[in-house]
Amino acid sequence: MSAALEEATPNAAQVPMIEARGIHKYFSGTHVLRGIDARVAHGEVVALMGRSGSGKSTFLRCLNRIEEPSEGDVLIDGTIITDLRTDVNSVRADIGMVFQDYNLFPHMTALENVALGLIHVRKRPRSVAQDLAASALKQVGLADHLTKYPNQLSGGQQQRVAIARSLAMRPKAILFDEPTSALDPEMVHEVLDVMRTLASEGMTMVVVSHEIGFLRKVADQLIMFDDGMVIERGPTERVLDAPEHARTREFLGALK
Ligand code: ADP
Ligand code: MG
Repeated sequence: MSAALEEATPNAAQVPMIEARGIHKYFSGTHVLRGIDARVAHGEVVALMGRSGSGKSTFLRCLNRIEEPSEGDVLIDGTIITDLRTDVNSVRADIGMVFQDYNLFPHMTALENVALGLIHVRKRPRSVAQDLAASALKQVGLADHLTKYPNQLSGGQQQRVAIARSLAMRPKAILFDEPTSALDPEMVHEVLDVMRTLASEGMTMVVVSHEIGFLRKVADQLIMFDDGMVIERGPTERVLDAPEHARTREFLGALK
């Protein structure tokens, strides 16, 4: 089909799951994001890399409006969510987020942590929420730990509870912000394995990570941030193996 014809007959598969258009962010006068565009297709895994302070977390947080962009729009599955009328709680349930430090409630069991959003945001009856929570925990390999409190779980298990908490909401996509960087090395793989399984099942994911081996296997596209801008992007292997930008080469060189 010609490009012109394709444009004239849009189909759902061509509408990105996540689209960022010209995102800027200022923090009290500091220009932290300076015009970021990105498109994440349905079922695609996109990695964000770049040095500390380059704006990766801020950008990720703008995608589900944990942070409000100062300028620009975010579209989820074709719908603009950066609109004052949009219900931010439902956006955050649709676009889950997994943080470096898990953010579980310490006084709640794994099951209660996962059920919470189902009850309060998705408005499921408690018994239904608990069934869904149990099945999400099973999906991340924690069927035997439903009634444990966070301090009775390892870091890797806590992070898998956090993934289950996102998953239970039946999100359209999940954003991961350095999900393994707070973990002891022996626990990194159990979290990456869960993420790889999710990706293979078709979950749309945006992942800030410097786990090169994992990204090679799982990420379709790699976006390099530097100083609040995208300096390079492309298929993961191409960017890793033949970086075009001097700053990308420098950054990747320092990781080795
Ligand atoms: P990265 O995740 O790539 O390390 P961040 O998005 O966390 O980068 O930060 C980008 C820049 O924005 C940094 O200079 C950081 O200090 C600044 N920043 C992030 N969050 C805030 C905030 N809430 N208030 C002020 N400055 C912030
Ligand atoms: Mg960060």
